[in-house]
Amino acid sequence: MKILVINAGSSSLKYQLIDMDNETVLAKGLCERIGIDGHLKHTPLVGGKPEFNADVDLPTHSEAIAEVISKLTSDKYGVVYSMHEIDAVGHRVVHGGEKFASSVKIDDAVMAALEECTPFAPLHNPANITGINACRKVMGDVPMVAVFDTAFHQTMPGKAFMYAIPYEYYKNDGIRRYGFHGTSHRYVSKRCAELMGKPIEELKIVSCHMGNGSSIAAIDGGKCVDTSMGFTPLVGLPMGTRCGDLDTGVVQFIMNKYKISINEMLSILNKKSGVLGVSGVSSDFRDLDSAAAAGNERAQLALDMFHYWVAKVAGSYVAAMNGVDAIVFTAGVGENSKSSRAAIAEYFGYLGVKIDEEANSKRGEDIMISTPDSKVKVFVIPTNEELVIARDTKEICCK
Ligand code: ADP
Repeated sequence: MKILVINAGSSSLKYQLIDMDNETVLAKGLCERIGIDGHLKHTPLVGGKPEFNADVDLPTHSEAIAEVISKLTSDKYGVVYSMHEIDAVGHRVVHGGEKFASSVKIDDAVMAALEECTPFAPLHNPANITGINACRKVMGDVPMVAVFDTAFHQTMPGKAFMYAIPYEYYKNDGIRRYGFHGTSHRYVSKRCAELMGKPIEELKIVSCHMGNGSSIAAIDGGKCVDTSMGFTPLVGLPMGTRCGDLDTGVVQFIMNKYKISINEMLSILNKKSGVLGVSGVSSDFRDLDSAAAAGNERAQLALDMFHYWVAKVAGSYVAAMNGVDAIVFTAGVGENSKSSRAAIAEYFGYLGVKIDEEANSKRGEDIMISTPDSKVKVFVIPTNEELVIARDTKEICCK
């Protein structure tokens, strides 16, 4: 069974074609500048075919999907003979609101429900919906599944997801903590249980997804009980360019003093804040590491803040779960930065965490980086959201 995984953004579309018989990626790629001019990078990963990397006319997502199918099936760049070899399509959808606590087969009723979730993610959901519509147009009645970033967090109890504002805002408008990166937290927590050789039902796991966007999840018995992102992905940890938790009084003060609109303010908090805003150097942790090593104090401060926040939020989840068996690091920073992992783990001495420096220096594989006598196990697990989407799609379409 071959499954096409699609992650559609407003002007981009990422894809992977996965053979589910052995869970290998046959080809992957990225369409960019859709609706502007258009560029496609297509990388076949089997059969020794060459990469395609060139400008192509992509006026809408429909042309992008058609171009992807054409490359996947072409003599020169292709990995399948025809579109009919693609058995199903899995779509990443950012926001499923309270309607979707798990992945779902797409039909007209689901599309209508997705539209209803759009006010919660006005930048992301319309792009995801456009991607689905384009696929349905180009691929006809190939079964399709939606997999939501928010779904895994739907098991949070009210005490964790409610905001302490008048209850009517929850009841009438759905204002609550939803959380994001759910597909990643789900993947790494399941993998962590496999690596520990224990049923996930018996484990308390703190999952730290640290990339450009970062969030932490508390996973008790395989179910998410709390997470650091909220109604939007702006809150929780300081991130590459997002501010994380912030006193709303600061927003009012800056807007009044500098006479800026709410949209400008949100742009500052989303795009110019986080470690970029504090350091004035970069949102990329590699640049921060180099700048800090060269003596840049603001870069060091930004890194210190990030590590402190990860440790602080993770610690609060240990309290929330009344214990922890394992801590997992994943995503760009979590998978690659041994210095960030070591700095964060320093805070976990009270849990009896001990890091094995040699294991912590390895890269690119699932690995336990704590010593055998560490009371709490610490893992690095490269995330694989596409594989989760493909697995859910297979399961739902094979029912
Ligand atoms: P996204 O949230 O966009 O999916 P990723 O999970 O790909 O982000 O993470 C991207 C970030 O990972 C980069 O901005 C960079 O800060 C960080 N990163 C990647 N490689 C390294 C590295 N070797 N050392 C430190 N940070 C790294």
